Amino acid sequence: MAMVTSPHSLLLQNSNRQLLKNPTTKPFNAFPLTSTRTTYTTTPKRISITCAATTHVQDRPPTPAQSQDRVFNFAAGPAILPENVLRKAQSELYDWRGSGMSVMEMSHRGKEFLSIIQKAESDLRALLEIPAEYDVLFLQGGATTQFAAIPLNLCNADDPVDYLVTGSWGDKALKEAQKFSKPKVIWSGKSEKYTKIPAFEALEQNPDAKYLHICANETIHGVEFKNYPTPKNQTGLLIADMSSNFCSKPVDISKFGLIYAGAQKNVGPSGVTIVIIRKDLIGNAREITPVMLDYKIHAENKSLYNTPPCFGIYMCGLVFEDLLEQGGLKEVEKKNQKKAEILYNAIDESKGFYRCPVEKSVRSLMNVPFTLEKSDLEAEFVKEAAKEKMVQLKGHRSVGGMRASIYNAMPLAGVEKLVAFMKDFQARHA
Ligand code: PMP
Repeated sequence: MAMVTSPHSLLLQNSNRQLLKNPTTKPFNAFPLTSTRTTYTTTPKRISITCAATTHVQDRPPTPAQSQDRVFNFAAGPAILPENVLRKAQSELYDWRGSGMSVMEMSHRGKEFLSIIQKAESDLRALLEIPAEYDVLFLQGGATTQFAAIPLNLCNADDPVDYLVTGSWGDKALKEAQKFSKPKVIWSGKSEKYTKIPAFEALEQNPDAKYLHICANETIHGVEFKNYPTPKNQTGLLIADMSSNFCSKPVDISKFGLIYAGAQKNVGPSGVTIVIIRKDLIGNAREITPVMLDYKIHAENKSLYNTPPCFGIYMCGLVFEDLLEQGGLKEVEKKNQKKAEILYNAIDESKGFYRCPVEKSVRSLMNVPFTLEKSDLEAEFVKEAAKEKMVQLKGHRSVGGMRASIYNAMPLAGVEKLVAFMKDFQARHA
């Protein structure tokens, strides 16, 4: 394992964009287009930020032709994607593997696309060790659509279901379920501004509930389950929205009846929603269930009942391949732990200059919310960070402050640069 050693100076390439017409250097014009195209080149200007972390986690080196125009994107989703995946997609965009077509132009029923979706599924199965008794569905409509699809498929209108609400997304899932079932909130963190997860033993679950629903990682509030409650309902069903920590660590799929996730945080572009569902739960949708929300229809048709989000599925497949190449989810989790550790340490060691409101034991490895003691400096923090090519650090509009989303694809170097910037900002404003 390579060792990344610091202290070191990150020599940041600060770009002054120069607009050139018809340039002689065309770093990314991979296609033989003849028209006059507008391209950017950069004049690097060095600024120096000292970074004091010493770490033993392998960070992948930037690809040789790394663009000076790429930023460290801390967005919550759509979010940063692995650079090598983007480059691979770029190289295959015009002509996918000698087919003479882009993936966007292929029939979803042709042999080329079938090979893409089948490989994506088998790689995801390998990554998450998904047991054979589970189906994997590649759907559309975002996780939000699943908020309704779940009660429509798994219970009747008068059936009780349990919701454990640890943040805004769990709350949104609950509100949608109220239209299609009789959900009960067995615990809500709302009064404590969603900074905690309760002890599971104390939860009063309804023995008649048809399932227990959780949001495994609350993207806005940065609260993440580190282990999972045992459902004490008649069906023994636990259901999890894993949109924002999907494929960020190993998960024992057999603990869940159904897992769902929008792709646009850890595994691809928006437009793909992945559902992993135990096969015996399929086939019980209510009659009124729209065809697009019926798991049976999608399972029987192998996610090809109608036109699926082909290009998005292809991108997810490239990400799955990349995660396998990194050594699988155990390795990915180690990297995520390291990144989160150095960021939370920087916050906790700032003597109150920065604060993370979330209880330490349930802090998310993916979404790190923090505030400034001097809240009037927050806008300045975000602005200055953006100037140094660290973007999308503003917290969600509902909670304010800042949020750094550090998904799988965020390199360690991005977090180190952020931490160095935070220290520098503190030194200038404390
Ligand atoms: N659940 C979680 C945990 C999320 O983070 C999001 C999106 N940010 C959603 C659900 C909603 O996802 P979508 O926008 O794909 O419907």
